[in-house]
Amino acid sequence: MTQPFLVPDGTQVTLSDYDPGFTGDYRKKNETKADLKRNGKRLQELQEVLWAEGKHSLLIVLQAMDAGGKDGTIKHVMRGVNPQGCQVTSFKVPTEEELGHDFLWRIHKATPRRGYIGIFNRSHYEDVLVVRVNELVPENVWRARYEHINNFERLLVDSGVTILKFYLHISKDEQKERFHGRLDRPEKNWKFSPGDLDTRAQWGDYMAAFEDVFNKCNHPWAPWYIVPADHKWYRNLAISQIIVEALEKLDMRYPLPTVVKGRRPTPIQPIARRVETPARLRIAVSKAF
Ligand code: ADP
Repeated sequence: MTQPFLVPDGTQVTLSDYDPGFTGDYRKKNETKADLKRNGKRLQELQEVLWAEGKHSLLIVLQAMDAGGKDGTIKHVMRGVNPQGCQVTSFKVPTEEELGHDFLWRIHKATPRRGYIGIFNRSHYEDVLVVRVNELVPENVWRARYEHINNFERLLVDSGVTILKFYLHISKDEQKERFHGRLDRPEKNWKFSPGDLDTRAQWGDYMAAFEDVFNKCNHPWAPWYIVPADHKWYRNLAISQIIVEALEKLDMRYPLPTVVKGRRPTPIQPIARRVETPARLRIAVSKAF
């Protein structure tokens, strides 16, 4: 089910060709429950080996229009993930200090170290989305950023980071419904910001800016997935499936324990480590008791 959402290398994306209401072979939420549960369990297992092996990290980038479901995706898809190995970073309007640096400064600091899952709720792509639409910097500045982003992501990938970028594709009608839902329910009122209406009024400009992102910053090594997101249950299932499949591909293994060989290290003698086989360990443990 995941392949149709991957933007193939070299595709010129026109977002109106993508159906935000697509649900594949599923007709209602109930039908996705078992698959979502299975993915959740598998994700937990994969996170554990990611952590234990400590070789790779996973970076999940979430971008969407307002009310597109970034928060809901994190809440539902990452349910059950060990918080110790997972860090969510929400990128807001940059602070004065952040603006005093290059646009990737705050982003680079938040990337996941080996063994970790990092989730970006908004990301460096805001610097070619909101910044472009609202003309916050001159055109030559934001135009140069696509190449900076590609180089930056290549650096991360070469350093062991698997990058998955998700655009949660909602329709304008669905956004309206969700805004009304936020206004109608007192416990959801806080989620509504009048600024969201300004962004809605710029819908067409945002779609054009997103299309440029997909056309300039999509690579097999850091792909974009355009996920139909009008139905939250289908969105969650699709994203969980893509994450599980990407982690499976890493072919991770639990490492064998190592022991320090010989005497304690000195500044000129590095620690010599020997990989222990389970059989040798068992013998050592039985001798110790
Ligand atoms: P969210 O909508 O993600 O739940 P907020 O309502 O706090 O969170 O919105 C965050 C705001 O920060 C958004 O309006 C977004 O466009 C803005 N933002 C994020 N990154 C940048 C950036 N680099 N430059 C300008 N604005 C940004």
